[in-house]
Amino acid sequence: MFWIEPETLYVEGELHHGLAVLVSGTDGEGRILEVAPRRDDDLPVESLPRCTLLPGFVNAHSHAFQRALRGWAQHSASEDSFWSWRERMYTLANRLDPEALAAVSALAFAEMLRAGFTSVGEFHYLHHQADGTPYDDPDELAKRVLDAAGRVGLRAVLLRVAYARAGAGVEPNPHQARFLDANPQAVLEAAARLAASGARVGLAPHSVRAVPADWLRELSSFTGVIHAHVDEQPEEIRQSRAEYGRAPLEVFADAGLLRPSFTAVHLTHPDDAELTLLHKSGARVCACPTTELDLGDGFFPAWKVNAPVCIGSDSHAAIDPFAELRALEWHSRAVLGRRNVLRHDGDDGLAARLIDSGTVVGADALGIPAGRIAAGNLADLVAIDSSRMEFALGRPLPSLVFNGSPAAVQDVWVGGRHVVREGRLPGGEALAREAERALRRIAAHA
Ligand SMILES: [Zn+2]
Repeated sequence: MFWIEPETLYVEGELHHGLAVLVSGTDGEGRILEVAPRRDDDLPVESLPRCTLLPGFVNAHSHAFQRALRGWAQHSASEDSFWSWRERMYTLANRLDPEALAAVSALAFAEMLRAGFTSVGEFHYLHHQADGTPYDDPDELAKRVLDAAGRVGLRAVLLRVAYARAGAGVEPNPHQARFLDANPQAVLEAAARLAASGARVGLAPHSVRAVPADWLRELSSFTGVIHAHVDEQPEEIRQSRAEYGRAPLEVFADAGLLRPSFTAVHLTHPDDAELTLLHKSGARVCACPTTELDLGDGFFPAWKVNAPVCIGSDSHAAIDPFAELRALEWHSRAVLGRRNVLRHDGDDGLAARLIDSGTVVGADALGIPAGRIAAGNLADLVAIDSSRMEFALGRPLPSLVFNGSPAAVQDVWVGGRHVVREGRLPGGEALAREAERALRRIAAHA
């Protein structure tokens, strides 16, 4: 057991002075035992006199391997869109062998920790060899990704993707052979095997484009968390209406999947009927604003989504929880032409709402007892150096959200394990060099 004693600490929308956190252990599964003034006992103390302690941020939507595309898709000789970007991403995906996938995933996860994320929902769809042949261990690549997270100390929930087809009536795309499952039963069995090995596992029917309605109905027997891409691109919605006469979220609802354990990723272009369905269902949305900007998806309509919203760094064009959170509000301002759009109470209400999007809503999306500084929760904690120049003169909580950055993250604990110390992730540079060597070996960018 040990104490963490910051200058201020975030509990339920407010910053408090004079409180400390008692943590049960340092093994990665340590819990918060107590939030109280520190007692004068013999226990060790992590003293943080200039820091604000927050719950660790939750990255609810990630494709770790796409970290290798950073900077390689910021130019084009011809007209470029989400769909042409996707072809580049597929080229990379098909060159990755297990070692290279592990190396780039470890780098992405290390960067997440350094930025203040303490957990990730890894939406994992690389399952087989490039020609579609299963590995000797059919879960080889999922295990590599989970091992990479374990190696750097990030908490990972493996969202095992189901992928059936290129689209309704669309010829199979040979670039998707790695993703394809034989049938819904095979997907459920893979998820069960991974869970039996001790991993935290959710299910991810990729999208209504990639998974037909009869598969969705079979997958609805899954009892854990369920994530799916929904309404990312207008073309996806057009295809759904052509095939089913229904919008994507309605197709998930018809299959019995739209329930409190469901997270709709993106929801960039919902219609009113979908928003009503979402609101009634108790489900939530994962917005990925930096990726949605990078891919030209559109602005996430936070101003009209009447459901909890969490965040993800998705393609890792950037890994920065603060940037994702303030974008929820700033994009709303840019579109509507007014300020302080998202509903809130009081001077700190908007900042608190955004912090909750980055923490507790994401933890709920992944089904993990985290995201709150409260007894019983996992000790996933982030200390922000609030003495930095950019926070001077600012009202503390709003400044933290609207002026924070990974550079201000001083210490990070995951389940009580101290993974970032004084702004440094031990071994981070070596992970970067290892990933560079692996990507050179497979000529990832040739
Ligand atoms: Zn995605």
